[in-house]
Amino acid sequence: MKTDFNINNLVRENIKSLKPYSSARDEYKDANTTEMIFLDANENPFENGVNRYPDPQQNGVKDLLADIKGVSKENILLGNGSDEVLDLIYRAFCEPNKDNVISLPPTYGMYDVLANINAIENREVLLSEGDFQPQVSQILKAADANSKILFLCSPNNPTGISFTAESVRELLTKFKGLVVIDEAYIDFSEQRSWLERLSQFPNLIITQTLSKAFGLAGIRLGVCYASKEIIKILNNIKPPYNVNELTQQRAIVRLQKMDEVENEISQLISERKRLKKELECCVSYIEKVYPSDGNFLLLKVDDATKRYKQLIEYGVVIRNRTTQPLCENCLRISVGICEENQRLLRALKAIQ
Ligand code: PMP
Repeated sequence: MKTDFNINNLVRENIKSLKPYSSARDEYKDANTTEMIFLDANENPFENGVNRYPDPQQNGVKDLLADIKGVSKENILLGNGSDEVLDLIYRAFCEPNKDNVISLPPTYGMYDVLANINAIENREVLLSEGDFQPQVSQILKAADANSKILFLCSPNNPTGISFTAESVRELLTKFKGLVVIDEAYIDFSEQRSWLERLSQFPNLIITQTLSKAFGLAGIRLGVCYASKEIIKILNNIKPPYNVNELTQQRAIVRLQKMDEVENEISQLISERKRLKKELECCVSYIEKVYPSDGNFLLLKVDDATKRYKQLIEYGVVIRNRTTQPLCENCLRISVGICEENQRLLRALKAIQ
């Protein structure tokens, strides 16, 4: 347990003194709505299902998530995709033109994009070549008093590889700022989520999403789990109605059908295993298929750009990652449904 950690030392000065916007519905959120009339938010009163502003605290979604994930509701913040959650984290804790963050390429591109948008230096410490693990001592060496956030994407995109528990634990213990573990792909992994260990690390923020395993990329719902203190700070700066009514409704329906979600996850995992075997055995120009804990595979081929273009001619779109560090001639392929994977395999074999 970190004892010397005080979240208030990391919050931006202007955020510390911020008086948050108070939305009309925040105040009477627990009121008995059958007896009250709402003439407080300048809405159109004619009912059509979405004429009212949505619940700013998304209580229905949070109740279900709290139950499914075994956390308290006060440990949850929801956003318009985890991209919004990541942006809120930057804006709460990083002083533009002064602070820095650390990220570990090759990794998810938005950490760098958001750093640029928010005028924050992004110090990049490459993952180790070969096994794509964090280089703990180099990361700690790159950090200084203004290093507010360390981004650990595990399972990592685009490598698909999870970071070892030992290295994550060491970073959580020794890094002085916040450690964001992006678990967008955790549901496809056999690794334990760090969510179980949230209370052990006051500097830990975990982001997850309904865009991947939950099959709801179109509704944009990202989830942030952290201490109550951190969630309170993020709540103060989030736009009042950042998760719309239709999104909340669709998320609730899905979260009530976890058996469906789990069934899809297990199908995707078995398709991933099947696809990996086929790619390894039967396509001559594939040099390596990396192990994956995600719903995608990273492969090294003879010429990524050439193969990417050839696949397009067969109507198969994948991701060319060759310009990313340590990913020369690498392609990333999302696992599709069985028929899609068959079509992909046929195309890959046809261009040998
Ligand atoms: N984190 C990672 C690692 C991702 O790969 C992605 C999307 N590809 C996101 C976050 C963004 O997720 P969302 O749809 O919730 O914004």
